[in-house]
Amino acid sequence: MHRSFFPEMESNRLNIMVAYPGASPQEMEEGVTTKLEEALKTISGIEEITSTSAENFSTIYVECYTDEDIDEMLTKVKNAVDGVNGLPIASEQPLVVKNEAGRIYGLIVERGMDGFSTPEMHGKLSLRASATGELIFDNVRVPKSNILPGRSGLGAPLSCLDSARFGIAWGALGAAMDCYDQALRYSKERTQFDVPIGSFQLIQKKLAEMITEITKAQLLTFRLGELRNDGKATSAQISMAKRNNVEIALNIAREARQIHGGMGITSEYSMMRHMANLESVLTYEGTHDIHLLITGMDVTGIPSFTRDLPK
Ligand SMILES: Cc1cc2nc3c(=O)[nH]c(=O)nc-3n(C[C@H](O)[C@H](O)[C@H](O)COP(=O)(O)OP(=O)(O)OC[C@H]3O[C@@H](n4cnc5c(N)ncnc54)[C@H](O)[C@@H]3O)c2cc1C
Repeated sequence: MHRSFFPEMESNRLNIMVAYPGASPQEMEEGVTTKLEEALKTISGIEEITSTSAENFSTIYVECYTDEDIDEMLTKVKNAVDGVNGLPIASEQPLVVKNEAGRIYGLIVERGMDGFSTPEMHGKLSLRASATGELIFDNVRVPKSNILPGRSGLGAPLSCLDSARFGIAWGALGAAMDCYDQALRYSKERTQFDVPIGSFQLIQKKLAEMITEITKAQLLTFRLGELRNDGKATSAQISMAKRNNVEIALNIAREARQIHGGMGITSEYSMMRHMANLESVLTYEGTHDIHLLITGMDVTGIPSFTRDLPK
């Protein structure tokens, strides 16, 4: 059962959604909801705890009001959530592994197996609301029954990565659109020298370039979606979209931040949050450079991932 953690802050009010994709209502009721509610009730300042469950997805909403430092409150809630169900996070970890013969398989490693641990990483300056764990393997013995049946080779993990990367391409676009939307509104509201800053050509240049890049990326990703619906999208095409959209989103976040002047560095606007989070997105699910090399290999037919160093 995986967990995601989404805080949203408005002044000193904190709305937190803890989502459990893959959790049935019964699993939630028996395993998590009651315990979590009990743990959260011990924290002062929490006003309301509600939960909803659909067939395969459960969420818990926490609404609280705090005069304390908002990060401190967030940490308290996170600790309460982590304390229930032995998080962080997953009870099982799927891995892509290679055997001695060089064949690739999917493998499930379970929490509690000897030698397997997942200490939480601290000090992250990006995607701070979600817990990230290191995976440590010390002579872990995994039974053969944990090898995922049906498929071996790189095709199976790639099909999973393709879906994730396609989703990321849209997600990065969403961040870019949010930054553009805020910058456009701010440029009409903020006046300098008695006129809205949106009337200056240099601001209009930024906005025009943002919307151009967003439109190009939307078309790229929309077409990719059509190809995927027809079962024709290739992994290399998905790499191109993921790489492009994250890059334009980061550039747009930076330009939108500039349009907001000094206000742009505050948490009142979301550009800096997007910028920090997009730095992770630039690296995970295939780094920016590796996706470039995938496109390079796609067009030349020559892989350039490995290098024989001179002896
Ligand atoms: C917040 C966060 C969450 C994550 N979650 C997950 C997760 O759920 N599951 C998971 O499996 N991983 C996850 N990752 C790990 C992520 O996928 C890796 O960090 C990423 O693949 C890069 O690997 P690395 O950090 O070992 O960097 P390295 O592989 O050491 O790369 C360092 C740099 O060298 C470059 N480089 C490496 N090899 C080459 C090459 N052959 N040619 C040219 N350049 C090269 C890279 O592009 C990069 O710029 C997560 C990472 C972050 C930051």
